[in-house]
Amino acid sequence: MEKLKELGVEVKTHMSTIDKEIAKIIEETLTEEKKEEKREHQEVTQPIEEREEKKAVVLKPRPPVVTVMGHVDHGKTTLLDTIRKTNVAEREAGGITQKIGASVVERGGKKIVFIDTPGHEAFTKMRARGAQVTDIAVLVVAADDGVKPQTIEAVNHARAAGVPIIVAINKIDKPNANVEKTKRELAEIGLIPEEWGGDTICVEVSAKKGTGVDELLDMIIFLAEYMELKAEVDVPAEGYILESRLDKGKGPIADVIVKKGVLKRGDIILTKSAYGRVRAMFDDKGRQVNEAGPSMPVEVIGLNSLAEAGDKFRVIESEKEAKEIVEAYFEEIREKKLATKPKKLTLEELLKQVKSEETRELRLVVKTNSQGELDALIPILERLSTEEIKVKCIHGGIGNINENDVMLASASEAIIIGFNVKVDPTAKQEAEREGVQIRLYQIIYDVEEDIKAAMIGMLKPKYEEVILGRAEVRAVFKVKGGKVAGCYVLDGNIVRNAQARVKRKDAVLFEGKISSLKRFKDDVKEVAKGFECGIGIEGFSDFEVGDIIEAFEVREVRRTTL
Ligand code: GDP
Repeated sequence: MEKLKELGVEVKTHMSTIDKEIAKIIEETLTEEKKEEKREHQEVTQPIEEREEKKAVVLKPRPPVVTVMGHVDHGKTTLLDTIRKTNVAEREAGGITQKIGASVVERGGKKIVFIDTPGHEAFTKMRARGAQVTDIAVLVVAADDGVKPQTIEAVNHARAAGVPIIVAINKIDKPNANVEKTKRELAEIGLIPEEWGGDTICVEVSAKKGTGVDELLDMIIFLAEYMELKAEVDVPAEGYILESRLDKGKGPIADVIVKKGVLKRGDIILTKSAYGRVRAMFDDKGRQVNEAGPSMPVEVIGLNSLAEAGDKFRVIESEKEAKEIVEAYFEEIREKKLATKPKKLTLEELLKQVKSEETRELRLVVKTNSQGELDALIPILERLSTEEIKVKCIHGGIGNINENDVMLASASEAIIIGFNVKVDPTAKQEAEREGVQIRLYQIIYDVEEDIKAAMIGMLKPKYEEVILGRAEVRAVFKVKGGKVAGCYVLDGNIVRNAQARVKRKDAVLFEGKISSLKRFKDDVKEVAKGFECGIGIEGFSDFEVGDIIEAFEVREVRRTTL
């Protein structure tokens, strides 16, 4: 604590116990600072040339980035809405708030950045990709419902990420709200409220009525100051992609959050899979800005293609170099995909598969214009699965259909579904070469109908036996190489080369092909009811008078429903 005071951090007295996690973070920050001091000291003693290489790092305070988490229906979205609505600065009021992945609110001249997607799923997805964006988690717990499974999950995710938690006990306006009980349940999962002697800041709020929301914001600011969140500013900007989408007029758009440095208009941005010069930037209120410092979320226009959410970005000097890095990345993927091309099955294995009546799979590569569309479309398509045919999306992505999509589809025998996107010219050529089908849509209903039709086409055809005619054996005579039956056609037609079965007293003796059919001495193709003929069957000669020869055909019946 003394150390903090020394460093000029104002310590409010009612916050007597520091959350262990916060303490740890503060400790780390302190050690960082110690390192800084040491580095600076060394720098002074270093020769000039070396000193120039290691420029002193300038750390400046930055706003906290907050993610709201909690159980479903506990009020996360309502809380975010209330905060956004009531805490836009005066001059911004009336400005159009647009979704750029995060929102900036102000309280007493201090900024707080809220990630727009509440819940630990998005939080963890970003983290899984290596994006540590969140500084503080606000855990929403409804006072009429208490601690629930997702509350615990959220706590675990925040703890795993080492992110301190502030609890918002919500819905206190409800008559059945039970704050005491909620606190008891929180204590049971290790979140002991300050007022009970623990380390956890709990704020009672009503997201719906707005009660306690300012206090919650104060607590966030207070904790953030405590954590001494700082970032380097004199360095090329770095940060993370929050979301990305395609705009018909503006092209690829990336919502980013700056982690360090100051992102400026005209900078060259590089992500794993996209690059470009920042043509324009907009803040969360839709205003054009020329700069975005640490923690600030902005919409960036100018990337050459869609960047993936969670990917890191950095600013580099040369556009040429950026291009080379991205191209090298795609080349690497391409090689990997080629290397893992599935082995072609042998004919025997294929036959075995067909015989075992395994569920067939319709594999899809789905590309859409936005994450929202992708999240909506994939379950719709996969739900079309039946017992016979499984619909499986092997890859989903945002943006135009590119060469890599085609490669993937080709390797996995999938078809490509594009929803509100186009096909890159090179991808088109590649698809033609590889024989990959690409289908483009604008209406979900059309996709569904088409996929259903494709599935019907994949159904195993049913086979149906059609009796062509029946003949009775009246005499048996020997010919070269076997015996033939002298017959009288009872009904239908007997057709040469058709399948036939020989029946004796309703038992089937033999099934085979009608190899010869004669009227008198002539070979004929067909003999109709009421006529006599000679029938020879391939591989059979034990005819007896009175046997019935039934000619039939197996027809494939097309299936028209799933
Ligand atoms: P989420 O699933 O956690 O994002 O929860 P929502 O924000 O969608 O809220 C779920 C329901 O609870 C909605 O019907 C809200 O109107 C309601 N709700 C949220 N906050 C409050 C509150 O403070 N008081 C009351 N009475 N209802 C609330």
